[in-house]
Amino acid sequence: MGKITGFLEYKREIPVDRSPKERIKDWNEFHLEMEESHLKNQGARCMNCGVPFCHTGTLLSGMATGCPINNLIPDWNDMVYKGRWEEALQLLLKTNNFPEFTGRVCPAPCEGSCVLGINEPPVTIKNIEHAIIERGFKEGWIKPQPPAKRTGKKVAVIGSGPAGLSCADQLNKAGHTVTVFERDDRIGGLLMYGIPNMKLDKTQVVLRRVNLMEQEGVEFKTSVEVGKNLAASDLMKEYDAVVLCTGATKPRDLPVEGRHLKGIHFAMDFLRSNTKSLLDSKLEDGNYISAKGKNVIVIGGGDTGTDCVATSLRHGCESLNQLEILNKPPQERANDNPWPEWPKVYFLDYGQEEAQAKFGDDPRQYCSMTKKFTGDEHGNVKQIHLVTIKWEKNEEGRFTPVEIPGTEKVLSADLVLLAMGYLGPESMLLESLGVETNQRSNINADYGKFTTNVEKVFAAGDARRGQSLVVWAINEGRAAARECDKFLMGQSYLP
Ligand SMILES: Cc1cc2nc3c(=O)[nH]c(=O)nc-3n(C[C@H](O)[C@H](O)[C@H](O)COP(=O)(O)OP(=O)(O)OC[C@H]3O[C@@H](n4cnc5c(N)ncnc54)[C@H](O)[C@@H]3O)c2cc1C
Ligand code: SF4
Repeated sequence: MGKITGFLEYKREIPVDRSPKERIKDWNEFHLEMEESHLKNQGARCMNCGVPFCHTGTLLSGMATGCPINNLIPDWNDMVYKGRWEEALQLLLKTNNFPEFTGRVCPAPCEGSCVLGINEPPVTIKNIEHAIIERGFKEGWIKPQPPAKRTGKKVAVIGSGPAGLSCADQLNKAGHTVTVFERDDRIGGLLMYGIPNMKLDKTQVVLRRVNLMEQEGVEFKTSVEVGKNLAASDLMKEYDAVVLCTGATKPRDLPVEGRHLKGIHFAMDFLRSNTKSLLDSKLEDGNYISAKGKNVIVIGGGDTGTDCVATSLRHGCESLNQLEILNKPPQERANDNPWPEWPKVYFLDYGQEEAQAKFGDDPRQYCSMTKKFTGDEHGNVKQIHLVTIKWEKNEEGRFTPVEIPGTEKVLSADLVLLAMGYLGPESMLLESLGVETNQRSNINADYGKFTTNVEKVFAAGDARRGQSLVVWAINEGRAAARECDKFLMGQSYLP
């Protein structure tokens, strides 16, 4: 423990972001770096608790509590306080292949379970993680480290999101020859084409890591959709093991009257085309769905919805409403949401902060249910019809939405973005391999084993657990790599 009285002396501080009004004028990252002296003080606030809940990484009430990859947080906080940055980096890299991703986009369940958080603002963990890895890159401490020996075993990883990348990174470290197949034209999965550039820079951050992995010997094949332009049977013949990290990319639809109207899109079609056009041509090619001058309705209050809000603002939308069917969360933890559970409390994420700066208010409307869409004579969506609901227990004791009479309203809508979650992995590849799915339509593979019903085929990430978080995808990619290594070699030294 760095400073015994640190938590008494220093207040929690996080880096100041770029001002919302300024940052919506560009697509650059909005986080600014913190000065070293401030970071040290933040590291000094860590109490090195006897039982450090921050790195437990477990599920409580269905939500992550503590760091899912068991980052050794108190140890690297101590190193940062003492200015021993290179040692902090080595500790961080023991558990996390990609701290530059989690340090930017992780919702930080570690901070929700920090012991200091019981009666004080928690230790600033995520920003310290970010600072350690960026220091590592800047100082040149991160260099390609190809394995000393190759095993002669060949592994195919399908999908290049954080699960596929962490799995490939670990298997490569173990000396296997790894090829990552990606159907998109760029590597990264949702790190590339889901999460927008202002939250995670594609060239300076995602590509930097992909290049490093290439230098370490991982082979990447883009624009190859396994099961479509590469037969799954050929892959099975050529490789000693296959790991499916194909994500949960089937979007949930909204089957109400008027859904067919023009201008209603799935969020991922909006976000993906925007990032691709941005990277291909700085949005000059026009190959994206524009929100410019439009009344935008985002349906869904999660991360995807927030990214749609922030992207629409950068296009220059006319108005913005984000609809959420759930109740507005309380300002402080409710009695049934005690520490160290993930705190389900009201906060403004970056997109809502920006909308508030532009239009004066949080764009979210809670307890809002869509009844129908109506359009003009050309088949374009023009209005959304809503009703306010309340949540009541039905006869089986389950909460269900009940419409409140007299609360019907109509909002102008020229662009509607559906961001209501995902329904598991797409079926084509799974069918061609004969891989079974479970009741939730995810790949049927137990956590810890990651084996499917097909010999030598493993599964990890959102395709196995359903749409989740980058940090869980890294956890699963690492763990599946260990199981795959055991299968290939009879034992594994991978952590
Ligand atoms: C818009 C959005 C924003 C998000 N924001 C955050 C956030 O801020 N923080 C956070 O922690 N999590 C966030 N998430 C969740 C997070 O991105 C995912 O949980 C994570 O990316 C899952 O990783 P994965 O590797 O399992 O799958 P993915 O990242 O989905 O990658 C799967 C890859 O497999 C490829 N693929 C699929 N089938 C084939 C095939 N047959 N052949 C070849 N390739 C194939 C796909 O093209 C894709 O690139 C967000 C999700 C979305 C949609
Ligand atoms: S990966 Fe996420 S949970 Fe783990 S230490 Fe970093 S911010 Fe916290």
